[in-house]
Amino acid sequence: MLEAQGPSPECERRSQRPSEANYTGQMLEVWPGLYLGGAAAVSEPDQLRAAGISAVLTVDSEEPSFKAGAEDEDLWSFFVPALDKPETDLLSHLDRCVAFINRAHDDCRAVLVHCHAGVSRSVAIVTAFLMKTDLLTFEEAYGELQNIKPEAKMNEGFEWQLKLYQAMGNEVDTSSAIYKQYRLQKVTEKYPELQNLPQELFAVDPTTISQGLKDQVLYKCRKCRRSLFRSSSILDHNEGNGPVAFVHKRMTPPFVYHLSCTSYFIEPVQWMESTLLGVMDGQLLCPKCGAKLGSFNWCGEQCSCGRWITPAFQIHKNRVDEMKMLPVLGSQTRTI
Ligand SMILES: [Zn+2]
Ligand SMILES: [Zn+2]
Repeated sequence: MLEAQGPSPECERRSQRPSEANYTGQMLEVWPGLYLGGAAAVSEPDQLRAAGISAVLTVDSEEPSFKAGAEDEDLWSFFVPALDKPETDLLSHLDRCVAFINRAHDDCRAVLVHCHAGVSRSVAIVTAFLMKTDLLTFEEAYGELQNIKPEAKMNEGFEWQLKLYQAMGNEVDTSSAIYKQYRLQKVTEKYPELQNLPQELFAVDPTTISQGLKDQVLYKCRKCRRSLFRSSSILDHNEGNGPVAFVHKRMTPPFVYHLSCTSYFIEPVQWMESTLLGVMDGQLLCPKCGAKLGSFNWCGEQCSCGRWITPAFQIHKNRVDEMKMLPVLGSQTRTI
């Protein structure tokens, strides 16, 4: 068992169990009151009852059907639909999973986290829980879990997602560049034909909004002054060989770069939509004057600093001007 702050001692139901009995059938207690298992673990209500489990988190392609019975009425369940594939999005569910486990523990409930084999998906969820609860790095949490359960082996896509989770401070921050970039990557996997993309993928065109611009820098076409994007749309990256975040698929070449970034990599903006749909790569032109602003590639492009960004929507810095919104005069702008 991990060295960890266990649930509160008043949780009598769980604390009475002998510590050596941490293997209960198909289930393994990996943290006080937290069990890991495969699908077989939930097929036997007696086993759940014997282990005092009254909360089940299922991460699988199908929701389990618990056998009907009076005692089942008190069973808390939480279902995350997920295939054990690297492209499956677990990251977006991690906060809700951790919250479910915590709520159950607060209610003195032992929790079973299970998938089909108890090796990959459920291991990823429990790793996230350990990272967040015990303030461990991904490697520490996963290593601890593999010490307890040597066959634990999540797929490489989940490993990468948990590293992004760590980079966001063990919390899914949907406004962060990391999450936006991650979501863009997921979209290209989900819509390989690049048609009918969800509307919320595109940032609102800054020419159509007047609110929420305060304290934001606006970027305008240098040639015709049309507003193109806001500073909140910029997806910052570390120059050159930074953390793992976006080298998931493309390896950074083994030579050294000394250049700094000459482009802004941004999230797609509404005015780009017709250009981006159904096309893998191309130029980005000003929607008003047609000036060349940069380029896009759903498979990624390399920044001048050496970093690969996937997918990439890049605007050359020398084609746009930064304008800071004046707080008092609202829609008026001035050049910085
Ligand atoms: Zn760069
Ligand atoms: Zn223009």
